[in-house]
Amino acid sequence: MPKTFFIDLTKCTACRGCQVACKQWNKLPAEQTIQRGTHQNPADVSVSTYKLVRFSEKEQGGKIKYVFFPDQCRHCLIPPCKEVGDGFVENAVTQDPKSGAVVFTAATAKFSDDQKQEVLESCPYNIPRYEKGKGGPMAKCTMCFDRQAEGMVPACVKSCPTGTMNFGERGDMLALAKKRLAEVKKSKPKAQLLNPEDVNVVYLVEEDPKLYHEWAVAEASLPGPMTRKQFFAKVFGPARSLA
Ligand code: SF4
Ligand code: SF4
Ligand code: SF4
Repeated sequence: MPKTFFIDLTKCTACRGCQVACKQWNKLPAEQTIQRGTHQNPADVSVSTYKLVRFSEKEQGGKIKYVFFPDQCRHCLIPPCKEVGDGFVENAVTQDPKSGAVVFTAATAKFSDDQKQEVLESCPYNIPRYEKGKGGPMAKCTMCFDRQAEGMVPACVKSCPTGTMNFGERGDMLALAKKRLAEVKKSKPKAQLLNPEDVNVVYLVEEDPKLYHEWAVAEASLPGPMTRKQFFAKVFGPARSLA
């Protein structure tokens, strides 16, 4: 069974420890930021920011609701980015059979900009990034496969002080996620797990997922009027489409 993150958003305080730890471990440079009227910085994930704590402030029932969403690659069980990338350069995107980590290798630099854009658009969560016209590789969260090889948990998990970030065997994480969902649902009936059957990064939200982030659930990213099932059928063919 692969490894899975369980991200319990009911506990997140938006301290951004995970975002900083990711930068530090991956030796990613800081980005120039500007004040955009929000505590979220930078504005989006990028080749230099694999993990981004998104801040969302929306009106709900006449009150302001403030929620946080530590965004990252979901390490899909059947990753469309790999399916599309393999059509350009075989194994430029790899999937580790043991951990389930989906990794963009240096060979993704061989993709043209148009091909990189196609890989980006195949992602149901709008995650992988590249720099137009620069010829470098595509980039995103690696599941810290290098730390795992040394027996360590991902840097973002290690740094989280609130218990929001959890990581372990998929069966254990799904069991923990279901237990927490049952507890949270008692006071928050809209609570739900996001796409748990499809991904190795499972979020627990207590409100409408769209309140947190427009790409929080796979359905939000579908091109045109296709349903999610039709989308996967298009990418993988009917035999491998998800029910
Ligand atoms: Fe690929 Fe996107 Fe899935 Fe990550 S979330 S494995 S980038 S399709
Ligand atoms: Fe960053 Fe590693 Fe966490 Fe991915 S698993 S978000 S690369 S710290
Ligand atoms: Fe939230 Fe934990 Fe990240 Fe802090 S370190 S922003 S509590 S997930």
